[in-house]
Amino acid sequence: MTPTTMTRRVYLAASLFLFFPLAGMAQCFSQCTLGSTPANTLKPGTVRVWVDPALPPEQFNAAVAAVQSWNGATSWVSFTVNTDRSTSPTTPPSDAVIGVKQGTPPAPPGSTETPCANYSFQRDSQGNIARADLFLDPSVVQAGGRSVQFGVAHEIGHMLGSPDTDCQDRSSTVMQDGFPCALPEEARVTPAQCDKDKVSQFYASRVNPAQNYQYYYYGQCYDVYLVTSYYWCTSGGCTHMYSTWQYLGTQCCFLGICG
Ligand SMILES: [Zn+2]
Repeated sequence: MTPTTMTRRVYLAASLFLFFPLAGMAQCFSQCTLGSTPANTLKPGTVRVWVDPALPPEQFNAAVAAVQSWNGATSWVSFTVNTDRSTSPTTPPSDAVIGVKQGTPPAPPGSTETPCANYSFQRDSQGNIARADLFLDPSVVQAGGRSVQFGVAHEIGHMLGSPDTDCQDRSSTVMQDGFPCALPEEARVTPAQCDKDKVSQFYASRVNPAQNYQYYYYGQCYDVYLVTSYYWCTSGGCTHMYSTWQYLGTQCCFLGICG
């Protein structure tokens, strides 16, 4: 911690003590959970996705739709993707975090079977996915748009922290595993509310060490603040994030990412 940061914290602590309403302070300790430290998922922020324009038009559009279908699942991660196949670059741009293309999907750990779709990735120093290559088996691409859409949506769901699951049945989740590469009719190709809720809950409990957050006070952004762990607290129907420092100090000001 730099001396500058310490000074800011002391200053903020003093200002919050003076101005934050007492009524809010009492809510600090209700329904709070300490975030966990899951790894190998997408870092909060905007994730740029590149879809290979070498895919046939229907399959390209399906992959784009799959990427976009996760927008709104959590406020922590949003996706941008070039929706026009004719202007999509033929190689991934340097700022692309996820690349989607036809290829041989890597076998999962402990397996020698080639799955219908899977991804390989590199991590950054905090365990986030820094770069992922999402491969669609040629049989998936050949099977058409629905198979492609499912494969891409399913794998991005994993990158958002969602495991293979059946929310209720095959038609109610895009995270159901075990389908043939040519997708059966009953399978869902877009995230269901159940899938989105899982992602939302995952990011709400996620600790992202050493990420800079900005400090809100009455809706105004005051300063940048380094968070190493935090609590999520629910009060008045809203969920707010508190740093450990704030939580233990009964400060009810909340943190977020300034837009
Ligand atoms: Zn899976």
